[in-house]
Amino acid sequence: MSIKDNKYLISKELDSINEREIAILDQENTDGSSWDYYCNGQIIQATVYNNRISGIIKELADEFHVEITADENEISSNCSCGFKEGVCNHVVALLYSWVNDREDFVNIGTLVRRLHDKDKQELIEITERIFENNPGNVRFINPVENDETEIDNDFFDV
Ligand SMILES: [Zn+2]
Repeated sequence: MSIKDNKYLISKELDSINEREIAILDQENTDGSSWDYYCNGQIIQATVYNNRISGIIKELADEFHVEITADENEISSNCSCGFKEGVCNHVVALLYSWVNDREDFVNIGTLVRRLHDKDKQELIEITERIFENNPGNVRFINPVENDETEIDNDFFDV
């Protein structure tokens, strides 16, 4: 396997997270309530990509989008519920899911690898669906000029 394929592998930081660590996180941040929340909850569209996991926690009519990144020294997280004082139960629930139901996580690296086998027309159709789902994604093929930093402009003006 070449070095450039490494991003398709699950990082060792993410791989080494264990249930005991999550239980401590649960106790410290949500008084241990996240275990029940995880057991009774529903998580959809769970993905893993190198050192990052994401998923949607469904709660009645609400959906919370969670993203967690495991770096060498820390786990950082982001949840659409907007809770800022520590870690919310949605984040802890996704971590419980990671250590218990890892097989349910779609590896984005594997999906990307499968793109190599698709022909151009299929790729265009996939891209079209991505834009339909979120038109903001057009920035990946049509960068807005304002996105460029001044440093870049200066560099190209020289
Ligand atoms: Zn949350």
